[in-house]
Amino acid sequence: MKRGYVQVYTGNGKGKTTAALGCAIRAAGAGLNVLVAQFVKGAKYNEIRALERFSNNVTVRQYGRTCFIKRRPEQKDIDDARRGLQDVRECLNSGLYDVVVLDEANIALYYSLFTVRELLEIIDNRPQHCEIIITGRYAPKEILDVADLVTEMKEVKHYYSKGVNARDGIER
Ligand code: ATP
Ligand code: MG
Repeated sequence: MKRGYVQVYTGNGKGKTTAALGCAIRAAGAGLNVLVAQFVKGAKYNEIRALERFSNNVTVRQYGRTCFIKRRPEQKDIDDARRGLQDVRECLNSGLYDVVVLDEANIALYYSLFTVRELLEIIDNRPQHCEIIITGRYAPKEILDVADLVTEMKEVKHYYSKGVNARDGIER
C-alpha cells in the first residue's frame, strides 16, 4: 500500500471487533502483513484460534487479563496496557506491518490506562504505508479527529438485554 489510513469502529452496537477482524482477514488474503493487538483482553477467544491459521502473515498479541475490568482498573491493567503500547510502537517502527488492529484501544483510553496523547503520537509516527484500525466504545474526540474513517455501530437491539451473554463462536 502507498498510504495507510486510520479507521475507527466505535459506538454501543455489536460489530466493532468483528469489523476489524474482517479487515484483518481480508488483508491477510491479499498477502499483507497484519498485527492484531488486543488491549484489555487476555483470553484465547475463538477469533485468535482462527487467526492462527494465517500465522505466516497475521500476528496476534494480547495485553490484558482473561477477565474484564469491573469498576476501576488495577495497576496490573495499567502495566499490561502500557507494555502493549510499547510493543505496538516497536512493531510499527519495524516497518513489517501493513495493517495494525488496535482492538479495544478506546476502552484502554476510557480507563486511562494510557493517554490519548501517547496513542496519537504512535499513530502520527507510523510508517506511511501502515493502516491503523482502532476499535472500542467511547472513542474520544481526539481519535475521531485524526481518523480518516469512523463508523459508529448503533445498538438498535441487542440480545444482551435479554440476558444472553457472550457465546462461543458468536461473540468470542
Ligand atoms: P463483536 O466482538 O461481536 O464485534 P463489539 O466489539 O462491537 O462486538 P464490545 O463493545 O467489544 O462489542 O463488547 C464486548 C462484549 O460485551 C460483547 O461480546 C457482549 O457480550 C458484551 N456486551 C454487549 N453489549 C453490552 C452491554 N450493553 N452491556 C454490557 N456488556 C455488553
Ligand atoms: Mg469489541
